[in-house]
Amino acid sequence: MSFQLDPQTVYVSLICGHVLTIVLLTAYRRSESRDASISIFFTAKLLQAGAWSLMLLKGTVSDLTVISFTNTLLFLGTAFESAALLRLQGALTLRSRKIGVAVTLTAILLFNAVLLFHNDEGLRIAVASIFSAFLIAPPALRFLIQRKATALRKLMGGLYTFLAVVLLIRALVALFAEGPVSLLAANVSQNLFSISAYMTMMLANTGFVLLAKQKSDDELFRLASIDDLTQIWNRRTFIYKAEAILDLYAKRRLPVSFLLFDIDGFKSINDTYGHDQGDRVLREMSAVVSKQIGACDLFGRYGGDEFALLLPGSSRAESTLLAERIRVAVEGLYTLSVGALTFVPEHRSDLDRIYKCCDLALYEAKRAGRNRIERAEPHFEAPIRQEADYVRI
Ligand code: GH3
Ligand code: MG
Repeated sequence: MSFQLDPQTVYVSLICGHVLTIVLLTAYRRSESRDASISIFFTAKLLQAGAWSLMLLKGTVSDLTVISFTNTLLFLGTAFESAALLRLQGALTLRSRKIGVAVTLTAILLFNAVLLFHNDEGLRIAVASIFSAFLIAPPALRFLIQRKATALRKLMGGLYTFLAVVLLIRALVALFAEGPVSLLAANVSQNLFSISAYMTMMLANTGFVLLAKQKSDDELFRLASIDDLTQIWNRRTFIYKAEAILDLYAKRRLPVSFLLFDIDGFKSINDTYGHDQGDRVLREMSAVVSKQIGACDLFGRYGGDEFALLLPGSSRAESTLLAERIRVAVEGLYTLSVGALTFVPEHRSDLDRIYKCCDLALYEAKRAGRNRIERAEPHFEAPIRQEADYVRI
């Protein structure tokens, strides 16, 4: 099969694709997001749309001028696109910026030097392709190696890696293929490149908008679920996550432990040292507890100076040991009292009852002199028996 893509059609398709993305990003930027990565990506698309528009001037203006400006704009566009992706990944550091600027400037200077002093089309294509691949590879590989990357991030990583590989193959073909390169422009290699460039552009542009949306959704979710002061789960999120764990452990018929703890005499810390020092104590205590617990344990602020820990799979002895470790770790300027319970959940709605039982145990710990752990099992057993009796009657 032999078919030939008309270059003008390819350029117009690329311009249209970029312009559509620019329109979409303009609307999105206005109403939804102030994220800097969107502005950087927007600039990249403007540069790329400008570059492909210049290609349409071929034949009317001197070829050298068109090729020089087009490729300069394309290098800048690729550099901005790479920067936008790095920014989205939180990796646009001063160092990566300096490297990006150095690679882009070298690419522009080298390309134009080749154009002026050794105008060989193969060499030009090789320089343009290799430097573009270098610019796009860092964010592409970061997407791929990121742990816990979403499917969308992996797809974007695969897409840009594919583009970098296509660019490198194009450079090799341009450098080492037999015969004049102008002939290559009319063959499979050039067609493959045009199709790849078009498909990657469409997918990458749409993918970027979705990624930016995903990032702002994640940020909103984080703001709504994390306690501002202590940076641990807030009460609502703790309850939501705890219910899911109880559900799971009820199905597995495995125990979980619940610790409810409260700082002793916290009011007097506020009164003596001021509210800011009180805040510092809450932050510090949360950090100390976070260090003591495992990745599957759930830690949240219930309100004021009251905190809750749900320990999936933890036995009575293990939970007492952990509570004791926490109690000793913070002992100093202030102390903690803890109400602890271990049980095999029956249903997710157990949480309310568990909280009440631990609250009673915590109250007993306070009454008994504070700075201690009180088990809540007696309170937990009693209501179960009452409920069973009630059903039998
Ligand atoms: P107890 O040993 O019985 O727990 O005595 P307590 O003084 O700690 O009493 P309680 O737990 O009832 O006091 C909680 C205090 O925590 C009351 C409130 O002023 C203070 N508080 C609640 N939220 C914050 C906060 O975000 N920052 C600061 N600094 N204080 C808070
Ligand atoms: Mg207290």
